[in-house]
Amino acid sequence: MSASRALAYARAHRRKSLAELMDFVRFPTISAQPKHQSDIMSCANWLAGHLRRIGLGDVEIIPTKRNPLICARWHGAPERPTLLIYGHYDVQPADPLDKWRSPPFEPTLRGADLVGRGACDDKGQMFTHVKALESYLQTAGVLPVNVTCLFEGEEEIGSPNLLPFVVRHQRSMAAHTAVMSDTRMLGPDRPAINYAERGGVVSGARCTRTRARSAFRQFRRCGS
Ligand SMILES: [Zn+2]
Repeated sequence: MSASRALAYARAHRRKSLAELMDFVRFPTISAQPKHQSDIMSCANWLAGHLRRIGLGDVEIIPTKRNPLICARWHGAPERPTLLIYGHYDVQPADPLDKWRSPPFEPTLRGADLVGRGACDDKGQMFTHVKALESYLQTAGVLPVNVTCLFEGEEEIGSPNLLPFVVRHQRSMAAHTAVMSDTRMLGPDRPAINYAERGGVVSGARCTRTRARSAFRQFRRCGS
């Protein structure tokens, strides 16, 4: 019953939610470019304010060595499980700018699609979770499970401050399950559920000038 009322609320407030998502996408939160530091801070403040406005009472902006984490909690059902929702509000650089058909930080509707840097990585997906929480809180006044939201501003630069934070706050971040919508979708009509994620492995290769030269000579010999 509360799910159907929440869904009805989400549908009835679709236009308002879309306008808010567009406000979210307008922040040029490019974590890889230090000149956008003040945009990152403005966006973090905006997001924290938004989470408070939808009815989450316990919202913190947590400073790190670089970009703040946003943590929001609703733990009003101690007998129920706890869900951890992860998302990131930083985005990739928008270069090359001349390849965009509309400005990257001026979100534009093209048919049913919202086009803008970060609209689908990860601000849009993250916002669906936020709007789901709002829909429950504004109709039932409570959530069906306990929820901890952890939103970061450094995913696109390798999350340097996320792990140290989680390690330091293992107890308060503890959850029965975690959900993030920052993974693959197979197509516009083919949503996908990725499960049993185990993290990523990064490797690199370093090529020294001497070896590169000898490889190049070998390559030329092969070619001639
Ligand atoms: Zn992402």
